[in-house]
Order: sequence, then structure tokens, then C-alpha cells
Amino acid sequence: MTLTSPTDQTAAPPARSAPNELAPDEFRALGHELVDRIAEFLAGIREQRVTPGETPPEVRATLDAARGLPRSGEDAEHLLERATDLVLRHSTLNGHPRFFGYITSSASPLGALADLLAGSVNANLGGWSLAPIGTEIELQTIRWVAELLGFPTDCGGVLVSGGNMANMVCAWAATRRAATWSIREEGIGASRMTIYATSETHTWLEKFADLSGLGTRAIRRIPGDALGRADVDALRAMLERDRADGLLPGLVIGTAGTVSTGAIDPLLEMAALCRDSRIWFHVDGAYGAPVAALPQAPSDFRALALADSIAVDPHKWLYAPLEAGCALVRDAEALRETFSFTPPYYRFQKADEEPPVNFFERSPQNSRAFRALKVWLGLQQAGRDGIVRSITTDIALAERLFRNVVRHPELEAMAQGLSIVAFRWVPDALRGADAADTDAQARLDELNEQLLFELQASGECYLSNAVIGGRFALRACIVNFRTTEADVDALPGIVTRTGRRVLERMRGARAT
Ligand SMILES: *Cc1c(COP(=O)(O)O)cnc(C)c1O
Repeated sequence: MTLTSPTDQTAAPPARSAPNELAPDEFRALGHELVDRIAEFLAGIREQRVTPGETPPEVRATLDAARGLPRSGEDAEHLLERATDLVLRHSTLNGHPRFFGYITSSASPLGALADLLAGSVNANLGGWSLAPIGTEIELQTIRWVAELLGFPTDCGGVLVSGGNMANMVCAWAATRRAATWSIREEGIGASRMTIYATSETHTWLEKFADLSGLGTRAIRRIPGDALGRADVDALRAMLERDRADGLLPGLVIGTAGTVSTGAIDPLLEMAALCRDSRIWFHVDGAYGAPVAALPQAPSDFRALALADSIAVDPHKWLYAPLEAGCALVRDAEALRETFSFTPPYYRFQKADEEPPVNFFERSPQNSRAFRALKVWLGLQQAGRDGIVRSITTDIALAERLFRNVVRHPELEAMAQGLSIVAFRWVPDALRGADAADTDAQARLDELNEQLLFELQASGECYLSNAVIGGRFALRACIVNFRTTEADVDALPGIVTRTGRRVLERMRGARAT
């Protein structure tokens, strides 16, 4: 019997036959075919409908939904071909140049290849030793994101699934720090802790208040102006009053780019108040934080450097494919204190070694994907200058759209902030209707809502909506490196043409 080293190729035993294995040649052939199909898809994306415009039953029917789990395995080539057809034909294409919905960006094709590479190695970024290069790449990614935003690069950070998780991870760390007892050991109890945010804050906050055990009543709403931007004097008074009443203010949240209108809270004033009041200041920059890198960024973005924590979504304005959110926390220990179940004094390495980062200690997750790879590559592919150029162009396109809307006789501009434009269609019969005319306003709400559904189904372009001052608005958000001036110039025509069609149909329905 000869002993062979683990690397002795000549002694390799015959491969085990496993249902989920792919022979190298088959992998190569399937991979090439798939990459060719994706390249074709991307090359022709502009000619596609933005949405398939099918109903849920129609989409479900493509799957033979009544079919149970197959008993025996199927051929990989056939499966992948069918999956490619299904996914390419029945998806909403947020990479289409005329996709303007929510805050959902076009994704960098390099990021898709990064996901393939990451999945192939299947690195587990829960622990350093399971993902040595992966962990170091994630750490560098976090430093680069912090640098881009003007945040200290020695901060703590972690990549998570998106903005909701990034905000929650920061809020958990903040509330741990604010508690005068050990939440870990004693729980949240009948806490008197309060959290301050405007009513424009994204709904991650309600989920956090609920899931953290604080309860949604712990949320204290800061009064705001017409766009919901925080009134800092009112906040100061609230904090003083609440402290006098024995409450424990634990966290103040400012938003750098609200979801509805791209509005920016007075972040500098809020940061100063929080510093004076010794309260954790968190900035929800899921959408807007990268604007801090622009030389012409509004001055409030300088407050990002002063925040205790920031949430930012690389899968929004940094164009990473879903999912990629990032939580940054000034004091790295705060994340460990919150999420590590290894005591801080416990060290695996020798005293003179720098302790490795084990990401399982920085968020609720244990096993973790190598999502850093696509973000890391995207940051380098664009570079700081490229990031600034993309964001500047998106904002310029939104401003152009806003001017188009203002000039158009059938459209009413409602708000514009960062790369978001809110407006509505106003047909001749309702033009000049008084804001106090509740019947006319309700008609406009209904019309624009129907118009939105019709637009989404038509596949010509994709908008979402906002509610501004109680009124229904159509809303376009441009975080899309494929959108051009021509796309933005076509939008008013598409909207008004669709609006007239909807109006005719509604009139027809009333007449019958
Ligand atoms: C998008 C967004 C969120 C939620 O982020 P997800 O990535 O969708 O989880 C939270 N806050 C703001 C300001 C956002 O724009």
C-alpha cells in the first residue's frame, strides 16, 4: 500500500456519483451558454417591455403550479435552459432604462459575475478562517464605503441584506448602548426608552420597534415641514420634556434622502443636538448617503462624518446587484457588544497578533454569503470619480424631468429631491381645481392611482407612487445608469397618453 499526499493527482479516486455534482465539461458548456444568453438579454434590454404585464395567475401558470416535487432528478441542461427562459421572460426589468420605480437600481453586470464567482467558492463569511480573503475583502469594502461617505474608516461595519437590516443593526447597537441595564441579560422589560424620527422615516423603524421589544409606542415622531423634514427646535423640546418625564431617549434618526421625495433632514443641526444631549445619532442613508461624495453635495451631508452610525445600500446608488446593505458604526465595539456571544476578553490568537474579524459577531447572521465581492468590484470598476459621475448624472436627469413636468400643461409638479421627482396628471376638466375642493382632489387621486396601475401593466415605463400632503403622486426615481435624456423626455408623453386612455375607460364604465 502506498501513502499518497492529499495533492497527489495520480492517485485521485474515482469521483463519487452525486446528484448535485456537475462534471467540469458540463459545467463549462452550461456556463458558456448561460453567459451568452445573459449577454444577449443585456444587449437587448431597451427593446424589452419593462414589466411582463401578466397577472399573478398568468405567471403562476408558467410553472405548472399544481406539480409536486419531482421524485427523480432531472437533466441540468434542460433545467437551466427552462429557468433562463422563465426568468428572462417573466421578470420586471429594473435594469431597463425606463424603470423608475421605488429606489431600485440597475445592477452592474460585473456584479452578476462576482456573484457567480462567490457562489462557486461558496465562502462562508461568518468566520475569518472559513473565508480568509473574503473577510479581508469585506473589511476593505467597509473601509471604502466609509471613506466615500466621509465616515471614519476605522469604524465597525458589516454588509447585510439591505437597508432594513442595516438600519436595524445600527439601531440595535444604539439601544444597547443607551440602556442603563443589560438588555442582553434582562431583556427590554417595560422599558421607558424612546426613539425619535419623523413620519417620513422608512418603515424599517416600525419593524425595529416591534422586533426589538421596545414596541411601536416607543417611537416619538418629530414634527416636520411640508416635506417632513425634522423641526430641530421641536426635537430639542421633546427630548427635554421626555427626560423630565422619566423617559430614556435612546436614539435619534435622521434621513439623508427620504423614500418619498428625496428630502434631507437638517442633519448638521440634529448631529449637534445629539452630541450636546448625549444621544446616539443615526443617519438612514440607505438611498442618499453616497451623495456625500459629490463636491457639490448639500452641506447637511457633512453630518455623516458626525453620526454614530449610518445605513447605506450598495444595492441602490452603488449599483450592486441585490442584496447588499451596509451598516457602519463609529465605535466598532458597539457591534460586538450587541451581537457577539464570544466575551470581549476571549481571544483565540496570541497576544501580539491582531485579532481576526469574525463577522458572525457583528450582526444577527451566522453563516453569511460573500456579498462583499460584488460591492468591492463595483467600487473599483467605477472608482470615486465614476461613482460621483453616475450619481451626478442621475440627479441631473431627475432635474431635467422636473423641468419637463413643470413645463407640461397636463402635469403638475409636486416635489423634487436628489434623483426623485413627484408629480401628477391633471386632465383639462380638473385643471385649476382648488386645493380645498375635496371632490376634485379625490378625483385626481383616483385618476392618478389608476394611471399608475395602467402604466405598470403597459410595460412602457415603470413608476411608483408617493403620498404628498395627503395627495396621491406619481413618482420617478432615477438610480439607473442606463437612463438617458431621451428616456426622461419621453416620460411626460407616455404618462399623459396613458392618462387620457384611463380617463376614457373610467368615463365609459360610469356611462354603462
Ligand atoms: C430603501 C430604503 C430603506 C430600505 O432598504 P431595503 O434595502 O429595501 O431593505 C430604508 N430607508 C431608506 C431611506 C431607503 O431608501
